[in-house]
Amino acid sequence: AVEQAQVAISITDLNANILYANPAFERVTGYRLEDILGLNEAHLSDRKTPSIVYKTLWGRLSQKKPWTGMLVNRRENGERYLAEVTIAPVLNQEGEASYYLGMHRDVTEVYHLEQKVKSQKALIESVVDAEPVVIALLDESGKVILDNQEYKKLVGDLRSREPVDIFLAAIQDELGERWSTLK
Ligand code: FAD
Repeated sequence: AVEQAQVAISITDLNANILYANPAFERVTGYRLEDILGLNEAHLSDRKTPSIVYKTLWGRLSQKKPWTGMLVNRRENGERYLAEVTIAPVLNQEGEASYYLGMHRDVTEVYHLEQKVKSQKALIESVVDAEPVVIALLDESGKVILDNQEYKKLVGDLRSREPVDIFLAAIQDELGERWSTLK
């Protein structure tokens, strides 16, 4: 299962020297197994991850707890990638850590897409906020998922009653039977 997994898996000694890596590890990092075995996991670092992240990582491992986070890594060809990493201690029968198990996947593209969505959302919000009219975007259940400053002012004026509920009730009254066909 580990050999066929799509996630890069490695097993290290307690100093993070690599003892085993699966084929996905070779694919993600670009290193061939024979070249990476025996090297320290620090070899993957792009030296851009803040040291506090590593301190937290090793702090968790020294408490025999797993750690999950993001590390900036570098492939064998020098290409930088963002890795979502989980590292867990492998405990022996005495409850002491004897190995570390590392699992990581390249989330660079997902990260870039998330950043794009965030900046587009910020752009839409700033445009909507600048409008001098009340704007609210609702989801299918009628919950407000985006509003502007004018709408927020209305919420304040109505003392936290949701203005959209009042609008919808008024429209429903006005439309009568036609409301259900519109919905
Ligand atoms: P380090 O010399 O490692 O020091 C960084 C900090 O970690 C210091 O505070 C140091 O005291 C502490 N520390 C280091 N080794 C130990 C130890 N054995 N016990 C307790 N504390 C320690 N790093 C990546 O950048 N990318 C990865 O993909 C990655 N995968 C890993 C997978 C596994 C299974 C493990 C165990 C570690 C992994 N690491 C990874 C962490 C890596 O081993 C290095 O700690 C990290 O890259 C920083 O290296 P460094 O040489 O800059 O600093």
